[in-house]
Amino acid sequence: MTDSVNLNIIGTIDSPYKEKFAIPRQPGIVTAAQGQLRLTGSANNAELVRGLEQFSHIWLLFIFHGTQAQGWKPLVRPPRLGGNKKLGVLATRSTFRPNPIGMSVVKLDRIEQRFSGQQGSQVILHISELDLLDGTPIVDIKPYVPYADIVENAHGGYAQEQPSSNIDVIFSNAARLTLADNIGHYPRLQSLIEQVLSQDPRPAYKKNSLDDRIYGMTLYDFNINWQMTTIATLNVIAIEKIISMTKSIK
Ligand code: SAH
Repeated sequence: MTDSVNLNIIGTIDSPYKEKFAIPRQPGIVTAAQGQLRLTGSANNAELVRGLEQFSHIWLLFIFHGTQAQGWKPLVRPPRLGGNKKLGVLATRSTFRPNPIGMSVVKLDRIEQRFSGQQGSQVILHISELDLLDGTPIVDIKPYVPYADIVENAHGGYAQEQPSSNIDVIFSNAARLTLADNIGHYPRLQSLIEQVLSQDPRPAYKKNSLDDRIYGMTLYDFNINWQMTTIATLNVIAIEKIISMTKSIK
């Protein structure tokens, strides 16, 4: 018996979610979220995924690298309970766990093997409906097997239903212009923003309340500002493309 194991990272996620704020709390909720999983190191070999294309969905086991350094506590406050009731960490999907391992079922759209002169070949899994931060390290991939993985009549405790998303998202004229300008490269950006914001990404205790703060979030390379206008309506004020810092003028 050993009391620790070493895991090898087998891939990395490219995600539109560049920061934790506003990432949906589970996969499958925001269907317009698309990303890529690049296999890395010795796992970057098409043989490892031969046959996986037959499955519509896959399990991803990953490292909560964005919160790992903050450690963990035995009790956490799930946002689902308004953020004011404590439960055992292992009774929740909190990211602050004894081992920072997450698991998500995502849609597998296609598998690509890309050849490029010097770097050789790159295996890319095109995925959607993800709830993962950009750069998330992947430690395992497994096919989603419906007959085994769907449990009929399972009890979901305090999280039986998907949280309601009853917020209407409206766009300012300026925001609409940016969407139109970028529709070629980002055809699903509007749907992504609508789906993310209809979940009300504000801290749990603000749910169903009005506040006049202007919030910012980043999706792909866009800064997006928004504000609640009524308890059930939210206005996207501005969408601005972030100019890459590496090209900054001296
Ligand atoms: N489906 C996973 C994750 C649930 S927690 C599971 O059940 O294990 C979902 C939250 O994880 C998201 O709201 C996001 O903020 C956070 N998250 C996603 N990727 C992360 C990462 N690499 N590091 C830290 N937090 C991450």
